[in-house]
Amino acid sequence: MPITFADRLNQVETSAIRELFKLLGKPGIISFAGGFPDSAMFDVEGLRTASEAALREEPGAALQYGATEGYQPLREQLAAFMAGKSVRDLAPEQLIVTTGSQQALDLLGKTLIDPGDKVIVEGPTFLATIQCFRLYGAQLVSAPIDADGVRVDALERLIEEHRPKLVYLIPTFGNPSGATLSLERRRRVLELAVKHQVVLVEDDPYGDLYFGEAPPPSLLALSHEVPGSRELLVHCGSLSKVLAPGLRIGWMVAPAELLARATMCKQFSDAHTSTFAQATAAQYLRAGRMPATLARVREVYAGRAQAMGEALRRELGEGVDFVAPRGGLFIWARLTGAGGRIADGRELARRAIDQGVAFVPGTPFFCADPDHATLRLSFATADAERIREGVVRMGRALETEAVP
Ligand code: PMP
Repeated sequence: MPITFADRLNQVETSAIRELFKLLGKPGIISFAGGFPDSAMFDVEGLRTASEAALREEPGAALQYGATEGYQPLREQLAAFMAGKSVRDLAPEQLIVTTGSQQALDLLGKTLIDPGDKVIVEGPTFLATIQCFRLYGAQLVSAPIDADGVRVDALERLIEEHRPKLVYLIPTFGNPSGATLSLERRRRVLELAVKHQVVLVEDDPYGDLYFGEAPPPSLLALSHEVPGSRELLVHCGSLSKVLAPGLRIGWMVAPAELLARATMCKQFSDAHTSTFAQATAAQYLRAGRMPATLARVREVYAGRAQAMGEALRRELGEGVDFVAPRGGLFIWARLTGAGGRIADGRELARRAIDQGVAFVPGTPFFCADPDHATLRLSFATADAERIREGVVRMGRALETEAVP
């Protein structure tokens, strides 16, 4: 081939998940594979009203180039949104708007990671973070988690051993683990960041999607309790899971110097996030529609999570082990191999496709030492009836005889 690509591309491979997505076109397949919200849940009417208001009231701003930091009225609305989630004293200038929180991760890679730098992530963690940080040459170190999130004792040992450039966590309803860091561990993680002077990234696209009781406050909300932690903390938020991913609206709160450098890098990347999307989001938030939208998505996803949990217990019984999620979009399950049944998620995923149901095996979500028995099941996009049918099909796949 006449084209010579950059060496950095050797650090990443096309995602195993993407390969699986190719199979999803099969007719009649029920998918638990995607990480998307349900498009039937989008508040189309609210967004139409908001976009019309943006064009009517502020066409110059909504259609013109804008500031790299973000559209000021949206920054103000986002700061107010965060204030509603116990984040005290957040000035609009302390956050920048990003093109999805995915861009915030990319900007962190650009501004902080040199080839060979160590980065600690949870095992398992968000696949695109693994790929993005690796593209910048990061050497990823996997920190173990349990149902209460990252294990802080192990995290401290890893920080001491590897002296990482940053620690990346999804403390609330992790993707893929569904796990939520306990309040006590949140405080300890903040203390660790200060003690070892390491940058701590809180990626939080799911924190608003809770079922029943609200999760503990974000690391950002708690940072005022731990002196010095705010100077090391980055918080990434997103409207993708609660409102609409197609808007591509995310935001990043970070110490001033890091925010300035990330803004500089963003300028060379996309100049700014779509002003039309920003003005629409600002109108939407200003109209006060968010609380009702959140109440609706929480209720629907809670019902689906419950339907999936019950079906898994009924259809797969002791063949599978999981903790019922308290929010987010995923059930993270582990095959037990009980009764000689399949204990490898990749094997079950292949057989499940033949039975007409798709999900993602857990393996690709680990940057090291994968637990091959794990599966990520999204309950977001199918309704309760399809979920039950999909799990019946999973049960059938689990019962199929192992091919010698
Ligand atoms: N972080 C995590 C943990 C995610 O699961 C996702 C989306 N799947 C993102 C970031 C990126 O979301 P977006 O760019 O749409 O805000």
